[in-house]
Amino acid sequence: MKFVAFLTYNSIGLAGNVKSGVHHHGAPRSKDARKALVLQNTQGKTWATAGRKGHSGPASDHGAAEVRAEIEKLWTKLEKHASKVDHIVFYLGREGAELALEKVAAKFPANKVTIVSCSCGAGLKDMAIKAVGLKAAQRIQCRKCGGQLAMHELLIRFLEDGELRVEFS
Ligand SMILES: [Zn+2]
Repeated sequence: MKFVAFLTYNSIGLAGNVKSGVHHHGAPRSKDARKALVLQNTQGKTWATAGRKGHSGPASDHGAAEVRAEIEKLWTKLEKHASKVDHIVFYLGREGAELALEKVAAKFPANKVTIVSCSCGAGLKDMAIKAVGLKAAQRIQCRKCGGQLAMHELLIRFLEDGELRVEFS
């Protein structure tokens, strides 16, 4: 696994922590060369849905539309690299879940997918994941809604040691 895409409609870490685009580790062509493609909120927001912190309220139609538009923008950026990407790590929230899953499943087999999600609506997320054939994908449960910290930890760990796992987030 040399080239991993990290995709979330929220920010990776807090807004401004991580630059969007390609990050390199090691000299190109060296044994430990790794690349990460960071695809995060295109407007620099920590949360894609304005004014919402966490998932305590019901998902609104407005929020879902915003998230879907954001997912579309991020996928347009990913398309340019998709054929070279070995693995995708993406945040699965409640809003836009079906769209995100359909897009991932259309491009990547389950063994090239890591799904980051919190426990909100876990039953529905599980069903949606199965429905698109990604049941065998690696799953990472983040402790906090939004996945900002877990995505950040995954990105840093991948660049440093090539592994996709979290200990703290
Ligand atoms: Zn949540």
